Amino acid sequence: MKIRFCGAAKEVTGSCHMVILEDGFKILLDCGMFQGENNDELNRQWFFKPAEIGAVILSHAHIDHCGRIPKLTKDGFEGNIYSTPATRDLAAIMLMDSAKIQENDAEFENKKNAKFGNSASKPVPPLYTIKDAGRSMKNFVTFNYNRWFRIHDRVEVLYRDAGHILGSASVTLRIQEGKGIIMLGFTADIGRPERPILKDPEPMLPVDYLICESTYGDRLHEQAPAEEQHFLQIITETCVKKKGKLIIPAFSVGRTQEIVYMLDRAANRNLLPPVQVYVDSPLAVNATNVFQTHPECFDHDLHEYMLFDKNPFGFNGLNYVKTVEESKSLNEHDEPCIIISASGMANAGRVRHHLANNIEDPKNAVLIVGYCTPNTPGGMLRNGAQEIKLFGEVRTVRAKIEIMDSFSAHGDQKEMLNFIKNQLPSVQKTFLVHGDERVLQVWKNHLMDNGFSQVTVPSLGQEVDLLRPESNP
Ligand SMILES: [Zn+2]
Repeated sequence: MKIRFCGAAKEVTGSCHMVILEDGFKILLDCGMFQGENNDELNRQWFFKPAEIGAVILSHAHIDHCGRIPKLTKDGFEGNIYSTPATRDLAAIMLMDSAKIQENDAEFENKKNAKFGNSASKPVPPLYTIKDAGRSMKNFVTFNYNRWFRIHDRVEVLYRDAGHILGSASVTLRIQEGKGIIMLGFTADIGRPERPILKDPEPMLPVDYLICESTYGDRLHEQAPAEEQHFLQIITETCVKKKGKLIIPAFSVGRTQEIVYMLDRAANRNLLPPVQVYVDSPLAVNATNVFQTHPECFDHDLHEYMLFDKNPFGFNGLNYVKTVEESKSLNEHDEPCIIISASGMANAGRVRHHLANNIEDPKNAVLIVGYCTPNTPGGMLRNGAQEIKLFGEVRTVRAKIEIMDSFSAHGDQKEMLNFIKNQLPSVQKTFLVHGDERVLQVWKNHLMDNGFSQVTVPSLGQEVDLLRPESNP
């Protein structure tokens, strides 16, 4: 049996790992998109033939884990795509949204080529279309947490709650090889304990081989309730004292709902200053509806909370913005407000307009609430850039830049180690993926200091043999 690392190898996005059984059956763990600038070519190529893949096992609906599924289908994949029910529902809106972005990007590129006289260059087709995304949804088969299901004569799969976003799961495979069993674990994205909305991550069963994420393997997050205090302090400083606008680039799924829920709780306790809050992302509106249909993913506190507040994602002063006209009108009025808008890395979506309109005014602030690839506007702001380019124009950064990593849906170094330390007695080899190169090194050393012996960082396209462990004949 082999694994080939086909994405998120020495980088954070493009999660995709292929398991090749002795009998040739091929399984993809995730099929994510490479995000950030200049990844178009990488997104258009495969490290395998899509028609040869027998099944896809999806961990969760973030686009860097599921975003290339419509392309896989378009390029010949016909097998089942397994996911939890909530992941399927979120993936449906995420993939349709992503397809629309792909179509728009291709149209923009082709118009630009035509305008600048590049008529000789062939029109660029979109990575995939809305039609491709719709077609790929037909292949989904869903199973809930903690139920073994069979995807092949020799392979059974178990999802466990990863506590990362709605429907997110770790994946454990029980694989019959020869006369023995190999247990293979894929943490996918590890969530965080004691976070609002979702249940805590549930540790995986002991495995022989582990593919583990690394996003925040080099740091520790701020903990609640310091986090809530910090957030309210930023709002008061920006919107009350300076009468400015607070722009929060946030992923539409997960982060946005978590911020809204935190504001909802503050509003119920009269701690929220009287400012208007706008969620400016049609995808976030749809995602919030999906949240409300999956109470099986909610934690105990949210169930209790909903006994007295039926809608944890809505309060007086909160406005969900759908149309482009409404979104544009936010730039015209000068009152203090909070604008939560996608994308989280500010490299796409409506938030770019809000940044362009507000970043040069020192009374405003931008709050970065999660990981951003360094070459995106969000990443540059995080790293203290004095100027950023938006829509081809250079803007001077005069707004205050605030960073709060505690909203992250990814466990920090300590939380990730707690999640995988039950693997110590059984695990033979650990493969670290889904991290920036420097972080991967820090995380690897930390794991080795904590008793993990064979820890490796695979490269993109690398293939490794997995032998049946001696202790498990
Ligand atoms: Zn994720």
